[in-house]
Amino acid sequence: RELVSPDAAGDERAIEAALRPKRLDEFIGQARVREQLSLVLQSALARGRPPDHILMSGSPGLGKTTLAMIIAAELGVPLRVTSGPALERAGDLAAILSTLSEGEVLFIDEIHRTSRPAQEMLYLAMEDFRVDIVVGKGPGATAIPLDIAPFTLVGATTRAGLLPAPLRDRFGFVAHMDFYDVAELEQVLHRSARLLSVNLPPDGAHEIARRSRGTPRIANRLLRRVRDYAEVRADGVVSREVAAAALDLYEVDSEGLDRLDRAVLHALLHRFGGGPVGLSTLAVAVGEEPETVEVVAEPFLVRQGLLARTPRGRVATAAAWLHMGLTPPPDAVG
Ligand code: ADP
Repeated sequence: RELVSPDAAGDERAIEAALRPKRLDEFIGQARVREQLSLVLQSALARGRPPDHILMSGSPGLGKTTLAMIIAAELGVPLRVTSGPALERAGDLAAILSTLSEGEVLFIDEIHRTSRPAQEMLYLAMEDFRVDIVVGKGPGATAIPLDIAPFTLVGATTRAGLLPAPLRDRFGFVAHMDFYDVAELEQVLHRSARLLSVNLPPDGAHEIARRSRGTPRIANRLLRRVRDYAEVRADGVVSREVAAAALDLYEVDSEGLDRLDRAVLHALLHRFGGGPVGLSTLAVAVGEEPETVEVVAEPFLVRQGLLARTPRGRVATAAAWLHMGLTPPPDAVG
């Protein structure tokens, strides 16, 4: 799970930080988002004013945090980083907002998990650059308006659909981040291999890219595991054979499915006859939170054409049966 989980943990974070592109022109893939963002930033710079608030949505590990850092770097302003779960009380947010400097970028990761009171404070801050500080309790409480410096909010979410409309509407630009294709992930891998001094021929990069679930974070992580394998069991060169053997060892299959992906498909096929089955029932069967199944496993399975979300529940496609080595029933969806 740790190996292929798109969420970073521990000292993996330090390496991840070292591998982050620093400027927009170093950022690989996401051509449309890059072009849109570049326009937003250039016009803000030309006008000498902070750009509109920016929302980025997409699966974990696609580069949302990286882009937030790049936005601040391109604007030449400081960056403040926080996350939705850290903003439990509106006061936590007020403390940050009231100390922002002019033009600063405030990055709120997992913004869909911000508490209701903090969200309401955000509306006012985003629109009027103002917060109401509530002093006292009960009937004697009063709200003292406080001006804050104009800033740019950059929000990231894995689930744009969960954002309340009033919050979503206050972003002037929404960047939808997609999974990366194999060629783009090869570029990510070659760049990382250079930075980490890994000997990575093209066929090795291709093999890792194919199995990286369309996600740069996973590509970088798999590269490090394959490098370990190459150093211990081979001559250090990450050839296609070495990459394939290492990834088999780490239970990343030929299409890049990891253990969670396969557990979901396994339960769907073996326990529920291919579905339809509801998300929470499916999550219980694999021993995970529904949100983990929905955010981490499903988007990739859907994109690979292995799983379909229907109004009646989750359904395995014919390709899913085949991928798991089974014969699809005649009524399996295409
Ligand atoms: P998110 O915030 O969406 O979960 P991150 O921005 O933390 O993802 O990116 C995860 C890792 O993937 C980082 O180490 C980053 O270097 C790498 N990465 C993400 N996007 C790109 C990209 N477009 N080009 C190169 N590396 C990338």
